[in-house]
Amino acid sequence: MSTLSKGFAGRVRAPKAGKAKGALLVVDDETSIAESIADLFRREYIVYTASNATDAYASVVDHDVSVVISDQRMPQETGAELLSRVALYNPSITRILLTGFADIGAVIQAVNSGQIYYYLAKPWSDDELHLVVDKAFEHNGLLRERDQLIEQLRAANTGLEGQVAERTRELQARTEELENSNRLISELARKDPLTGLSNRRHLDELFAMEVERSARHKLSLSVIIADVDHFKKVNDTHGHAVGDMVLVGVAKILESGKRPYDMTGRFGGEEFVVLLPETRGEDAMVVAERLRTALQEAAIAGFTGTVTASFGVASLLSGEDSLGLFAKADGALYRAKENGRNRVEF
Ligand SMILES: [Mg+2]
Repeated sequence: MSTLSKGFAGRVRAPKAGKAKGALLVVDDETSIAESIADLFRREYIVYTASNATDAYASVVDHDVSVVISDQRMPQETGAELLSRVALYNPSITRILLTGFADIGAVIQAVNSGQIYYYLAKPWSDDELHLVVDKAFEHNGLLRERDQLIEQLRAANTGLEGQVAERTRELQARTEELENSNRLISELARKDPLTGLSNRRHLDELFAMEVERSARHKLSLSVIIADVDHFKKVNDTHGHAVGDMVLVGVAKILESGKRPYDMTGRFGGEEFVVLLPETRGEDAMVVAERLRTALQEAAIAGFTGTVTASFGVASLLSGEDSLGLFAKADGALYRAKENGRNRVEF
């Protein structure tokens, strides 16, 4: 058995190595025709040959073929049928049909349905064939380039989407951090760091706002000032750490003893304020008395003795401002201290 016939028996004839521009598959049931066509292109391309559609299709699957040139008339499967299968397998493979005039109807149908790129009617000249195959490779090169570009674009796009998503997550995290720190700053600006109650600055704001609101809507407004009794002695005897625990304890009792809509704050030192919107003097007195009792009876964490406070209560009169109201409450507090402490004065 010769090398040539052995090659055909083994399905596909192997191509010669060279500076190829791509792979061409030549299919013809007449092996001499397939060979003569193949010989025309071996210098430029990698060339495979096959003598039937089954082997040809296997070759397409096995090798990276750019162009298939197939005879139309073959036993079993026709060239048009083979090329239509090839198109389904990989539409980027450029397909050329070789045909006699008798088959022209089937060929035109194949061209129109997009199954083949070009057809050559017998008899063809080598020059003509060369031209068509070169054009086919050129066309195929463009198709492959296009597919590569699309693939690159798709990959770049996927990468870009990932980057955008990543940046969006970062931005959201940053925004959240910023919001949290803004909230913290605003809280710190309003809160007494020791007790967590409103600080003097925030109290002044609340005070001014409530006085104005009450004046405008002709609502009553009361204020309680509480001052821890003998606080200096607590500090002197037990130290400032214990003094701080006493202040924290007093704040907790005021906070839990007030009504939900009352506002509490630490005015400074051992002085606390409760603001009671829409509350008349006698009702504020009841609240103050309840707070005084609660404090006297409470056990304060970190301190063994009893803690009491003196309370001054005042109510807003029409035309009065926050300073006036506060001065009245302060006066009442002074009297509570004068009259023996641990008591409420109006
Ligand atoms: Mg034939």
